[in-house]
Amino acid sequence: MAMHRKHMVRDFNRYITCSICCGYLIKPTTVTECLHTFCKSCIVQHFEESNECPECGIQVHETNPLEMLRLDKTLEEIIFKLVPGLRESERCIHKRTQEEHQEREFWRKNKIKTSAEGNE
Ligand SMILES: [Zn+2]
Ligand SMILES: [Zn+2]
Repeated sequence: MAMHRKHMVRDFNRYITCSICCGYLIKPTTVTECLHTFCKSCIVQHFEESNECPECGIQVHETNPLEMLRLDKTLEEIIFKLVPGLRESERCIHKRTQEEHQEREFWRKNKIKTSAEGNE
């Protein structure tokens, strides 16, 4: 039973994994011409050098393949549900930067002495 379930998850992983960077899709972006999905940054970078889909090799657009890209919000939500750590880590980085900034501002504005300085 457990084996079967594991197999299912691995199968599904194929649909939420980017074949360019082999990681989970970050801002999943679908090529509307063939419906293959990649990370936004991966596919945008790929299309700077080529106008063929990296997955199936069809010519996506003669001149500007970027026109054929569409952000897949639904898939993004699914991935965040399946891989909760993904959204968590993104949010954490943002939050941490904000907090560090606020922390610095707080100390700067209030000019509170640290315990080390107040030793005299
Ligand atoms: Zn990627
Ligand atoms: Zn394709």
